[in-house]
Amino acid sequence: MKPTEVDGLELADANQIARKYVCSTCWGNLGVFFSDNGLYKVVCLHDGCSYLGLVTRKYAEDQRTKSRIDLIEAKENLGKIMGIESENKDKTVEEMLKGLGY
Ligand SMILES: [Zn+2]
Repeated sequence: MKPTEVDGLELADANQIARKYVCSTCWGNLGVFFSDNGLYKVVCLHDGCSYLGLVTRKYAEDQRTKSRIDLIEAKENLGKIMGIESENKDKTVEEMLKGLGY
């Protein structure tokens, strides 16, 4: 068992955690598995992930959105520095996010 693995749970509790939370390391989905102790454990489904804990899905989604906004702003700033006109020049952040499917 990894030191931070969530283990020793009843199935309903493990399923609820897997629905509400994601991995704090990679923000990936969690899986529920039968454990050696006869109960259930929740682990990250990504191979090789160090899985240091849990964060809520909402937190992960908010961070992803913030990262996308930061990327858009960084591209805009880099374009200005390099003298390249942006395709998003006259769009609001909301319009750019909508263009990304949000
Ligand atoms: Zn992970």
